[in-house]
Amino acid sequence: MAAVALPRLARVGEWLRLHQRAIWRLQWAVVAIYVGLLVGPNFLPLPGRAAHVWNDLTLFAQFVFWGLWWPGVLLSMLVFGRLWCGIFCPEGALTEAVSRKGLGRAVPRWMRWQGWPFAAFVMTTVYGQMVSVYQYPGPALVVLGGSTVAAVIVGALYGRGHRVWCRYLCPVSGVFGLLAKLAPMHYAADMRAWEATAPKAGRNVAAQCAPLVKLKGLDSASPCHMCGRCAGFRNAIELKGRAPGAEVVAGKATVWDSLLILTGLMGVATGAFLWSSSPWFIDLKLWLADLLVNAGVMWPVEGTLPWWMLTDYPDRNDVMTVLDGVSMLAVIGGVAVAMTLALGAPLAVAARLAGRGAWARLHHLVLALLPLAAAGVILGLSAQTVSLLRADGFRLLWVPEARMAVLAAAAGWSLLLLWQVAGRHAAGLRRGAMVAVGALSVAVALEPWHLLFQVW
Ligand code: SF4
Repeated sequence: MAAVALPRLARVGEWLRLHQRAIWRLQWAVVAIYVGLLVGPNFLPLPGRAAHVWNDLTLFAQFVFWGLWWPGVLLSMLVFGRLWCGIFCPEGALTEAVSRKGLGRAVPRWMRWQGWPFAAFVMTTVYGQMVSVYQYPGPALVVLGGSTVAAVIVGALYGRGHRVWCRYLCPVSGVFGLLAKLAPMHYAADMRAWEATAPKAGRNVAAQCAPLVKLKGLDSASPCHMCGRCAGFRNAIELKGRAPGAEVVAGKATVWDSLLILTGLMGVATGAFLWSSSPWFIDLKLWLADLLVNAGVMWPVEGTLPWWMLTDYPDRNDVMTVLDGVSMLAVIGGVAVAMTLALGAPLAVAARLAGRGAWARLHHLVLALLPLAAAGVILGLSAQTVSLLRADGFRLLWVPEARMAVLAAAAGWSLLLLWQVAGRHAAGLRRGAMVAVGALSVAVALEPWHLLFQVW
């Protein structure tokens, strides 16, 4: 049979499928770099005053993890979907490798709870702030290394060469799945070709999906790790291009998606980026201290906890008291609640404007805020990059303008998605009213960054 000429993007998918051995080697190289950067700095003294990113392993690891790695991974989701997960992620590689030799148990019911991506993301983000994960190697080892150890244990217990951890429990899997909806490419199954080809026919007869994605009817980029192993299965699955955000417009969403976007990404994560610069933290702390001192209760004002519970580095003059910790949690929690309500209320009204069934419509409309949610976490994390580089003498005078440009582009994209999503539920004046009201959420989403980058 003559070989069928595939479109260029589909050929990339095929190439990935045919080079799994090379990808496997690459994954182990990433595992080695990851372990080195995560563990190595814990055997060294904390960086001194003369230390720089280029001459100190601890600062270098900090810069790589929080300055390049994480913002880069988030950005890659918007362009390539979850290619990072399938090709580079060290946790994915480890959990899958262990699962090949593990006990192979079935995935338990508790693990399938749909709220895990939200709960795990919130808990990891808050705990990271409590222990200053961006600043010190010990907390980075506990947070990132703890997640890796959990991934290995889950791999040892469940699945047979699968990525059960990634599918159900990884703290960033939910976020990655949402951001991947914006990507301009995805693996999709052509159902006509699927039905016309027997399972053991076609150019790929041995597809096994490590993150347990159902291949029949494959369409969404959310759960797919873009590994390419199913490319060509039943001559039906191909890597295809699509309009950026097409999955947002056409897709559906659940209450967990809305919670992860509004409360998780735009609430808790925003609070985590904001609290240390905000006057709210100081004001609240002083007010609480006043109350406590007047009541003669001194232990929260003076008491500290071990470094793995709350930041405690007396040598660096960096110690959080219990009162600091409580004030920080209150500010993050307050921002999360305020953002959820302020972002959700206009969208709820917009959803109601189109008539009955507003609840499901609300979740669909919330997806339109994904570009702003992504811009927020990328800018928040890249603030670490900027701080580290400025501490090393780089002036980076263009950064404020670049930040404004990113926010403006994200706001524009969110408005466009709002218009497109509203068009799925209403037409004419009603659609216009939905967008006008929903646009208030776009304005609300910009406010924290206005405060952080321009006011404080
Ligand atoms: S559906 Fe599964 S096998 Fe196919 S590309 Fe995505 S992760 Fe890989």
